[in-house]
Amino acid sequence: MARPDYIICLECETEVKDFSWRIGQIHRAKCEACGNDDPDTFSLPEDFEAAVDEAQDEDEDEDEYQDYGDDDEDEGDE
Ligand SMILES: [Zn+2]
Repeated sequence: MARPDYIICLECETEVKDFSWRIGQIHRAKCEACGNDDPDTFSLPEDFEAAVDEAQDEDEDEDEYQDYGDDDEDEGDE
């Protein structure tokens, strides 16, 4: 696997270009945004995008939102 242009910090989801690559895996990385430097908490962009795509599938039924109106709030209960 070739070295990606950048990796994703899983702590703050920032793109990190300051990392060293070693035969198919992240060897060292340093996130300037949050200071994270644990290689295990970085993800390759392709892996990260796949996870995001799965999450977005759940947004489909936005149109089913129903407005139940304010009827219950107008009774002047004092
Ligand atoms: Zn970070």
